Amino acid sequence: MTEKAKQLYIHVPFCKRKCNYCDFCSFPTSNEQKAAYVKALEKEISLVGYDGRISTCFIGGGTPSLLSPKELSDVVSACRKKFDFSPEEFTVEANPESLTKDFLLAAKDVGVNRISLGVQSFSDDNLKLMGRLHDSGQAISAVKLAKSVFENVSADLILGFPNTDEKQAESSVKRLSELGVTHVSAYGLQLEEGTKLFEMVKNGLVLPDDDRISDIYDCISDTLEKFGYHRYEISNFAKSGFECKHNLGYWQQNEYVGVGLSAHGFEDGVRYFNTSDLKTYFRTLGENKLPTEGKTALSPSDAEFEAIMLALRTTDGLDARAFEDKYNCNFLEKYNIPIKKTEAFTEFSGGRFRLKKEGFYVSNQILLEFMPD
Ligand code: SF4
Repeated sequence: MTEKAKQLYIHVPFCKRKCNYCDFCSFPTSNEQKAAYVKALEKEISLVGYDGRISTCFIGGGTPSLLSPKELSDVVSACRKKFDFSPEEFTVEANPESLTKDFLLAAKDVGVNRISLGVQSFSDDNLKLMGRLHDSGQAISAVKLAKSVFENVSADLILGFPNTDEKQAESSVKRLSELGVTHVSAYGLQLEEGTKLFEMVKNGLVLPDDDRISDIYDCISDTLEKFGYHRYEISNFAKSGFECKHNLGYWQQNEYVGVGLSAHGFEDGVRYFNTSDLKTYFRTLGENKLPTEGKTALSPSDAEFEAIMLALRTTDGLDARAFEDKYNCNFLEKYNIPIKKTEAFTEFSGGRFRLKKEGFYVSNQILLEFMPD
């Protein structure tokens, strides 16, 4: 039997400046440090255990568009050397302030076929509040530039900042549609302790409450549907055929190799993550060792719960037959009690168990019912 292909995630932790709300592993860098990081990344790729086929690849960050064309090409060459590497979908994240035509052409040249752009908002007031380096004009230019090279361009939006109303939400979607964006990720703001925004809120900045954010989210979601973007996951919308295969793989519990600072991976039933400390990352790879900091082998019950949790994020929901084959149990019988308890918000049809539209608002409470004891 041939080994099932895995997905590949590559983390590039560099950003020109830290955004006010950001708690990802990202920080400013120098050209020297960036070059050293690419070398370390190449080493890490050469050391990972898996060397089979890669079905999808996602270079995320941080801001991968800060890599020079040569650095990007070196990372991809390392992948080609190690893996059977001709991914069906190959995404690179980019930010409007640093996107150049040279970068896009270099990306296309090495096989990238999807760009994910951190647009975040078309409100200049909100972009300032977020601490982003671009304004709405730059966001529009960046989308146009990306579309001049790639058909498949996704845009991220963040909801939950003060200067947003329904009218503005609608016009943002209309603008993305006119620009030919094929995919939209609309995330609710997560206020994280330790960020600048957290301090700003402590010092009096008022953010919209959950009900207000839900109203805006409904408006965005309805407008996206109106413009032909169907919702296929809690926060993700796509024109038909442009759903993100890489992320769908995560939600289907596919295995993936994670490389780069703080990257996470999932292989052979084990979830693992790399160090988030750059010095440790360099030192460990300098000793020809992988920079893995932690590993958790999923117990059978954790793996089952995780499969349900991930699948219920998607509008397709959970494939009961596939679940039964994988976990050797009858889904409807085994989960009879939580299914009954949540029936106002869930449905079973066509062999799939999924959340109804109203279920997406209470998904956390629903999942609690399926948690192992
Ligand atoms: S661009 Fe993204 S990763 Fe970089 S600091 Fe801003 S939010 Fe964080």
